[in-house]
Amino acid sequence: MTTTLDAPPHGQLSATTRAWLERPLRSVLIGGQHRAGASNEVVPVIDPGTGSTFTSFPAASAGDVAAAVAAARVAFDDGRWSEVDAERREELVHRLADLLRRDFETVAELESLDTGKPLADARSDVDEAIAVLRYYAGWATKVEGSVIPAPRQLFAVGTREAVGVCAAITPWNYPLPILMYKLAPAVALGNTFVAKPSELASLSTLYFAELCTEAGLPDGVVNVVAGGRATGAELSASPDLDKLAFTGSTRTGQAVMVAAAQGLTKVSLELGGKSPHVVFADADLDAAVDAVMAGIWTNAGQVCIAGSRLIIERSVHDSFLDELHTRTAQLTLGHGLAAGTDVGPLISRTQQQRVQQMITQAESEGAEVRTSGMVPADGFFVAPTVVTGVNPGQGIERDEVFGPVLTVLPFDNEDDAVRLANNTEYGLASGVWSSNVGTIHRVARRLRAGTVWANTYGIFHPTLPFGGVKNSGFGRELGAEAVHHYTELKTTVIDLHPGTGH
Ligand code: NAD
Repeated sequence: MTTTLDAPPHGQLSATTRAWLERPLRSVLIGGQHRAGASNEVVPVIDPGTGSTFTSFPAASAGDVAAAVAAARVAFDDGRWSEVDAERREELVHRLADLLRRDFETVAELESLDTGKPLADARSDVDEAIAVLRYYAGWATKVEGSVIPAPRQLFAVGTREAVGVCAAITPWNYPLPILMYKLAPAVALGNTFVAKPSELASLSTLYFAELCTEAGLPDGVVNVVAGGRATGAELSASPDLDKLAFTGSTRTGQAVMVAAAQGLTKVSLELGGKSPHVVFADADLDAAVDAVMAGIWTNAGQVCIAGSRLIIERSVHDSFLDELHTRTAQLTLGHGLAAGTDVGPLISRTQQQRVQQMITQAESEGAEVRTSGMVPADGFFVAPTVVTGVNPGQGIERDEVFGPVLTVLPFDNEDDAVRLANNTEYGLASGVWSSNVGTIHRVARRLRAGTVWANTYGIFHPTLPFGGVKNSGFGRELGAEAVHHYTELKTTVIDLHPGTGH
């Protein structure tokens, strides 16, 4: 189905957003030139809230990917970015943040329309993107080296230098923040960059590409190639990348790592999750209900850190679930741009069908399924779903659903809780709720996950390193940790008494 943007809820779009969407989309930025991609593949841009296609763009071709990497290489090698004063880099990255702030509503509207997420959540995404840009803008002037205590004959220093040409392949669920986790440290620290957004949500990246030009970044510092799997595969196999940061599914991450091995490209992988949310009976249960709900219903469960496995002490299992059902029933499912929407659609028909199939399968295996909320007739909606009576390791309890589906397992003691929580191939995040600080520390220590949130869930901040263990990937984004990913250590050794041998 193809549509115009005149009908409600699209009628809520501002004139500026509408005008931007009515121009032909320029799906690549290469060496300062914005233009359409050269591939024959056309990428439809679909509104998940209605199921209708409202625009499209030609994907970047293999030639576009090669040209983008080449443009980034030239811009790196000639020093037009890595050798400018750090203050100037800081200023320009702040300028990017200023422009995002100026166009805040337009970018939020584009993100809501493209991903289906409620407009309020899309606004939070833009706020987060701005915060990450500002945080790394500050780092541009803060990275220092060291004097190394080598033998006295020598003077040795360690300096941190830009890595070179960095690339990002990003998913559709948080397109702008996830791009900034990679782009902001890379660019602030003197690297050049090639971005490949998801074919399911490219608009905010394409809009941001225009801001890079307006901000006055030198040509070739940021390049963008929008397209699908083929574009991603071309980029990850490029022999001339120095670093590739990938966020997406575990399966694609494996393919990316294999492809990147050809060019010995450094990779960091932020992959899937099946995060446990452990609630002890002595916790603030009222707050825990809200956090468990936010942990799984936010973005309709399409969140890598979704707290998709509730592991709850048996004595409060029934009362906790009663309250959770009552509050969940009050949520409104709807179009992301419609006022009052709490839970939006899934990203695509394929994803909607996949999630429904997983729920049906769990039911056929004897699990009890309870859904809440009125599902709109159009669009790719799935109602918030709670699945009880599951066995540890059963399909729906083991596999990443990436939808609004919460499985529930009761536990009887602390060891039991930890064992159930760690019974997953993933290790991205976890939550633990208790009023006993000892319980929190003991359990946090034993959880195999990159992040443990205690008496809260899903807190992100530019200062907090984020990433996974096990099949959730490796490498950390955000915080000071990312500075090491986007710089290399150089050791310079000077002989103070040349030729004397001492
Ligand atoms: P995906 O793996 O299907 O796609 C991610 C990106 O990879 C897209 O840009 C896609 O076009 C590209 N791609 C697809 N095939 C490729 C290939 N062969 N080579 C190179 N690139 C290729 O993931 P998705 O469906 O967009 O996102 C959902 C997944 O992302 C979930 O598993 C979720 O847990 C994960 N995710 C992880 C994090 C994290 O920080 N750990 C954050 C968000 C999402």
